[in-house]
Amino acid sequence: MRTRFGVCRRKRRYVSEADALEVVAKATIVLRPYRCGLCRQYHLTSRTKGMRVPRFVLERVMEEENRRAERIF
Ligand SMILES: [Zn+2]
Repeated sequence: MRTRFGVCRRKRRYVSEADALEVVAKATIVLRPYRCGLCRQYHLTSRTKGMRVPRFVLERVMEEENRRAERIF
């Protein structure tokens, strides 16, 4: 994934994927860490379409969808 320079400068950097994943685990929205081609560190993105998403993130999305479905029925 290509990162634009402005995006890289604006975004928070994480030295390792583990650091980034820690933040993902605590976040209230679905985030995905990706390696930045510019700074060689990790940023987070909320764009998960067509991307590999960590398993625990997927599980949380499914949980939320189940909760939503329960409200409907
Ligand atoms: Zn960067």
